[in-house]
Amino acid sequence: MADFPEVRGQQAAHSNVPAIAEQAVSELNLILVGPPGAGKGTQAEKLTEDFGLPYYATGNILRDAVAQGTELGKKAKEYMDAGDLVPDEVIIGVILEALASDEAAEGFLLDGFPRTVPQADALGAALQDVGRKISAVLLIDVPDEVIVKRLSGRRVSRAGRVYHVDFDPPKQEGRCDLDGSELIQRDDDKPETIRKRLAVYHDQTEPLVDYYEGRNLLRRFDGTRTPTEVHDHIRATVATLRLEDEL
Ligand code: ADP
Ligand code: ADP
Repeated sequence: MADFPEVRGQQAAHSNVPAIAEQAVSELNLILVGPPGAGKGTQAEKLTEDFGLPYYATGNILRDAVAQGTELGKKAKEYMDAGDLVPDEVIIGVILEALASDEAAEGFLLDGFPRTVPQADALGAALQDVGRKISAVLLIDVPDEVIVKRLSGRRVSRAGRVYHVDFDPPKQEGRCDLDGSELIQRDDDKPETIRKRLAVYHDQTEPLVDYYEGRNLLRRFDGTRTPTEVHDHIRATVATLRLEDEL
């Protein structure tokens, strides 16, 4: 794991609960799906706090690998720059290794994975092998025209905290509220690449909506609402899910 520092998510808030049987019923294994710019990262930040889950965002893991010049980063860079997905075999191993770690034993929140049907198959098989399952797939729905506005105004801190120049500006222009670092625009948040990424989403990732609906795991959220409204809705849904699981 040394190559991927973000793979170390937040400490699970309930890590002092020892009984394995209890953990098995209350384990929350969540996946965020949605087009680029839907608000997955924005919601993930709140949900990891709500539920004390370790968070694995493949985009962050890959960008960090590129910045560090690791083998993974070298393999991923050209695809990311072009707005394409990195090949399945490059990303699947990274995520399965993270999910097998101790910190993910009581649950996890995945953002940006799976993004293709082969990735979803690999995840499902790996979890089934160890007697685990996905609790829910949270789809944040946002139409393409909204996405373009969101991504062109997105700014990110070094640590990956997300802002928007109009919809969620930092207190001091260009600086992260949390650590004061300079906010940057991602290279792939330029208009031509945004359109490419949207096309890739519709072509390769959207089939997962039917895939998970067919497995009765899909929960849909209207991502055009405010971040707080989207969060309230997701949190209520996940809390209900957990209650149902425990009954
Ligand atoms: P966004 O926040 O806009 O949804 P991400 O930060 O999740 O985008 O991903 C950025 C890029 O990283 C993608 O365009 C793709 O090149 C690569 N990437 C991230 N996750 C995956 C994945 N599961 N499979 C393949 N490529 C991925
Ligand atoms: P994703 O991780 O799905 O690519 P982000 O969470 O990075 O999406 O959000 C993309 C951009 O849209 C960011 O600039 C973010 O501040 C902004 N944003 C996120 N959620 C909302 C929302 N509900 N309404 C308006 N802007 C939003």
